[in-house]
Amino acid sequence: DGESRPLLEIKDIAKQFRGLKALKDVSLTVGYGEIRGIVGPNGSGKTTLFNVISGFYRPSGGRVLMDGQVVSGSRPYRLSRHGLARTFQNLRLFGELTVRDNLLVALDRSRTYAIWKYVLWPVGVWRQERRLHRRADDLLRRFGLTEFATAAPGSLPYGIQRRIEIARAMAGEPRLLLLDEPAAGLNGEEVRQLAEIVRSIRDSGVTVVLIEHNMGLVMSLCERVTVLANGSVIAEGTPAEVVADHAVIEAYLGD
Ligand code: ADP
Repeated sequence: DGESRPLLEIKDIAKQFRGLKALKDVSLTVGYGEIRGIVGPNGSGKTTLFNVISGFYRPSGGRVLMDGQVVSGSRPYRLSRHGLARTFQNLRLFGELTVRDNLLVALDRSRTYAIWKYVLWPVGVWRQERRLHRRADDLLRRFGLTEFATAAPGSLPYGIQRRIEIARAMAGEPRLLLLDEPAAGLNGEEVRQLAEIVRSIRDSGVTVVLIEHNMGLVMSLCERVTVLANGSVIAEGTPAEVVADHAVIEAYLGD
């Protein structure tokens, strides 16, 4: 049953780039409603793992399962239909469009097309448009972006741009959200707001996995943390457990 089954299962994932083993038999499971942190020194394989989970890279070995279904090898657009969304280390917003239009693009992409909507055109099309705009307004409100709706993201503070990117990822109503270094470049107050947003996302029923260097954020936000070093999992546990782990301390000293 869905209660005891983890949402995300990563089984013996390997990823090789020519001679370089970026991931070596990485296994981990993430339960429903968890906020999981992935930490590790630079080059330990964190982003490669995200790229495998989200279908950007095909693993050299192993499997990824969501809800017990094998999803590794699926293309990213397929995975978004399975309920997976992600953000990137570097912001990927349309800098010239308004904030609202950035969200509308994502909402439009995630809608399902049904033949009856064309049969009943134009009523169906008009209704759909109204629904899209309503959902954009909901997202703006939910992520505290209403006052920036007509601004171009490029003109806004970095912390707001991060929030827009998270709002955009949430447009497809994912079950699993992957955040790649969401606190990078944020100031203390922005990090605090980010933590609140991530908690509210989780409280709405979405499972969150985040790569993060900001240990303060990881400590306050994550129930469990998985530590990667040299492409392998070297520790996993509560934030307090992993920061006291000798293998983890050594891996970071070598960084
Ligand atoms: P992290 O996110 O933990 O900093 P990465 O996953 O970015 O680590 O990188 C892990 C290793 O894989 C590094 O040695 C990196 O140079 C290598 N790597 C990552 N992506 C590629 C790629 N597309 N081609 C070749 N090597 C890569």
